[in-house]
Amino acid sequence: MSRFFSEKYGSLTPYTPGEQPQDMQYVKLNTNESPYPPPPAVIEAAKEAAAKLQLYPDPDCKALTAALAARYGLSPDEALLTNGSDEILNFAFMAFCDPDHPIVFPDITYGFYPVFAKLNGVPYTEIPLKADLSIDPADYVGVHKNVVIANPNAPTGMALSLAEIERVAAGNPDNVVIVDEAYVDFGAESAVGLIGRYDNLLVTQTFSKSRSMAGARLGMGFGCRSLIADLNTVKYATNPYNINRVTAAAGLAAIENDGYFTENCRRVAKTREETKKALEALGFTVLPSKSNFLFAKTDRISGEVLYRELKARGVLIRHFTQERIRDYNRITIGSPEQMRILLDTVRAILEETA
Ligand code: PMP
Repeated sequence: MSRFFSEKYGSLTPYTPGEQPQDMQYVKLNTNESPYPPPPAVIEAAKEAAAKLQLYPDPDCKALTAALAARYGLSPDEALLTNGSDEILNFAFMAFCDPDHPIVFPDITYGFYPVFAKLNGVPYTEIPLKADLSIDPADYVGVHKNVVIANPNAPTGMALSLAEIERVAAGNPDNVVIVDEAYVDFGAESAVGLIGRYDNLLVTQTFSKSRSMAGARLGMGFGCRSLIADLNTVKYATNPYNINRVTAAAGLAAIENDGYFTENCRRVAKTREETKKALEALGFTVLPSKSNFLFAKTDRISGEVLYRELKARGVLIRHFTQERIRDYNRITIGSPEQMRILLDTVRAILEETA
């Protein structure tokens, strides 16, 4: 830390992203990316846009916002594009939370929420998941604080039903309820359809997972006009050109090729269920997942040792050190071939360490 670093950030512990090691080629199952590349039309659109990189992009991101809003049955002023969904989440903390408007979220969830809270000086409360690691929606009704819930939750992969999400939105009419749907396309129900009825509901999604565009950094938020207007105020006070030209073009082509991604989500969900069964046959407990990852543990080997042994053999998964979940590992669903390598390697490790 330099002697110039602002005191307000002195005790800030930043978010730790999943490893992106460059030392060797891993079977990379640690950051919930899609195993499938974007379709040729998306790559072509990005290339074309790259030829105009001397020009600033459209700060309103009009074409993409209109296409996206139409895709979800909304009007353009009910949608905002951001640099990954991390950016819209941060904008939401900036816009709606402060010392008088604290926030709650589960004790086991996306690790960025407490970081956004600390960054923005927002008091927060962590509500424990139930013993089975699911969220109890009753815990989030009438909390008189803002709420952020990942649905499906991460790293558990478990989802609340639409009715349960609606109960939380309806149960906090005077607070903002943020539903982070980064993984919704892999099998959960989206709350976007509720936006017309709840002016306190902000739904965030991303192109990073189901649309194979983690490298492009494109996320979005959906909400009523006034919520989106507030978020635009924060955006224009922070980084008006938050969506670069190449990403905007790629995003538009992605929306025009929706069928490609729907099919990939179906494939990922099928591979997920096959992998779950195979892990259970090896003695793992695997949480029921509606996302593109599995959260699994076994008495046969500790979570940390399994993570380390897999990494030594070129397979990368994600281990978390939090006490409640240290026995588990989060495994991104890759291609069937990647999952075969994972399962063969797990089998070999279990045999060696038995
Ligand atoms: N929400 C959740 C629950 C996530 O796991 C992630 C991915 N790390 C994000 C949001 C942010 O993803 P991105 O910024 O790539 O859209």
